[in-house]
Amino acid sequence: MSSFSIGIDLGGTNLRAAAFDASGNLLARRVRSSDHHLGPEAVVEGIGSLVDQLLSELPQSSGPNSLLGVGVGVPGIIDMAKGEIAISPNLQTLNGFPIKAAIERRLRTPVVLENDANAAAIGEAWTGAGLGEQDLVLLTLGTGVGGGIIANGQVMHGKSGMAAELGHMKVVPNGNPCGCGANGCLEKHASATAVIAMARTLGIVDPDPEMLNQLATKGDASALMIWQTMGGALGVALANLINIFDFPLYILSGGVLPAWQHFAPAMMAEIERSSYVYRHSRPRIEAAKLGGDAGLYGAGWLGLNS
Ligand SMILES: [Zn+2]
Repeated sequence: MSSFSIGIDLGGTNLRAAAFDASGNLLARRVRSSDHHLGPEAVVEGIGSLVDQLLSELPQSSGPNSLLGVGVGVPGIIDMAKGEIAISPNLQTLNGFPIKAAIERRLRTPVVLENDANAAAIGEAWTGAGLGEQDLVLLTLGTGVGGGIIANGQVMHGKSGMAAELGHMKVVPNGNPCGCGANGCLEKHASATAVIAMARTLGIVDPDPEMLNQLATKGDASALMIWQTMGGALGVALANLINIFDFPLYILSGGVLPAWQHFAPAMMAEIERSSYVYRHSRPRIEAAKLGGDAGLYGAGWLGLNS
């Protein structure tokens, strides 16, 4: 009987779960609504029933006895010591609820909580773009910007679970105001949301990253300028990270990645100009390989190593 784990991606809209073997193969997957507005007990029961369904789908050779553990990726700040979600803007009903213990009671198996961007970094390191690397940084460029740092094979959590809040690195002095209280944060200048906001300012109707990518491909001057501006801001952030860490690999993921050809030249020019560590060390800057499943894979790895 081979052992396996279950990774869970608990998002503001969807609850996704998948079973993984120790080699990183995805064995089965399921999705349902996260139902967090119904309260913490409903979320725990949703996870429980999703895991029950997954277990019933797996071949007979891998029964419940060989489930090693469950990893759960959550968008927010995790109190690792208490097994709680300390702050999650997207899952407010779960803030302060001892969710790790509640899921462990429901499933009778060890549970590991992790921030979703950290889980994505673990996933990419396990079977994605970071395969074989012990040191890497992941940036997820989506609605906001999340970050995960893996050093010596370990995720950095910091004193209070807030390490690698890379979306709130200042990249534009006196730049756009951010919900965190600062101005010029990376996520206000290089996220999908930031790109959309720039497009609206330029009078583009109902913009989204895919539409702006297509416009730029057709040579639209406004769209090209938006991606160049975004790439420059992202380059400032990456130059800072490269100067701090001197890691071999920096991975980018999220909804803006299809426009790589449009933002990467400005990003690379800024890195070349602003990071003498880059000029000396030439680390890799690459797109993620697991897409939206990176956090699910990372949660699966955490379940195997719980
Ligand atoms: Zn901020």
